[in-house]
Amino acid sequence: MRIILLGAPGAGKGTQAQFLMSKYGIPQISTGDMLRAAIKEGSELGLAAKKIMDAGQLVSDDLIIGLVKERVAKADCANGFLLDGFPRTIPQADAMKDAGIDVDHVIEFDVPDDVIVERMSGRRVHPASGRVYHLVYNPPKVAGQDDETGEELVIRADDVEATVRKRLAIYHEQTELLVGYYRKAAEQGQTHYHHLDGTQAVDAVSQHLVKLLG
Ligand code: ADP
Ligand code: ADP
Ligand code: ADP
Repeated sequence: MRIILLGAPGAGKGTQAQFLMSKYGIPQISTGDMLRAAIKEGSELGLAAKKIMDAGQLVSDDLIIGLVKERVAKADCANGFLLDGFPRTIPQADAMKDAGIDVDHVIEFDVPDDVIVERMSGRRVHPASGRVYHLVYNPPKVAGQDDETGEELVIRADDVEATVRKRLAIYHEQTELLVGYYRKAAEQGQTHYHHLDGTQAVDAVSQHLVKLLG
């Protein structure tokens, strides 16, 4: 099963990706996590991406497309994958199509901006695994620690309110165009498009996803 999770920053894509990964046994491909790993390694890619990410802007299409093409060609993607945070622009979606990377389901997470801003202020992440927590809505068992490893949770550098608002503006300008793009693709029988209410509790959203995906 090849799935695109589409939605604003903070809509809950990463949280549900963790659930879907274990439910369907397909890997999560988070371009944001890949870029943050590159920054941590201090690679050339990381150096180029850091300033752009901290400013809440999008990394260049060419760079991201190369990264994703390489990733989906790996053996663990043979039975499918979950794209989280990609594509984010029409050129990225076109490049995927041109590369012959088809998708079975596109799922749009709908969450209003004000809810997003509140979610981001309480987000804590475990960078090594991609697990995501929230101080109030999805707290770890022990404050400040990842449930499985006990390792320290961190606040992302770009989760400050001004940067979150910048990222939301870019979402509405550039990424939201993909709603129309994939609705049209679904009308032409190229994929299935689903819209879901992302404001419900984490478990309710997971249950809805299972109904949609079977
Ligand atoms: P969130 O989970 O909050 O939506 P991500 O982890 O997906 O954020 O992305 C963090 C940052 O990484 C983005 O603000 C952007 O700078 C960069 N990034 C991630 N994916 C892409 C992409 N597909 N195209 C361009 N930039 C990206
Ligand atoms: P995205 O990957 O779309 O950027 P995340 O999955 O990282 O979003 O979620 C952003 C924040 O909101 C995290 O702190 C997460 O714990 C929290 N969150 C995710 N889903 C929900 C939900 N359904 N209700 C409340 N909080 C949520
Ligand atoms: P689509 O956008 O693909 O048409 P729908 O919103 O019509 O999807 O819902 C598809 C399925 O999910 C239906 O079986 C519906 O009953 C179920 N569903 C819709 N909303 C929820 C929800 N909030 N929680 C759980 N299941 C839901």
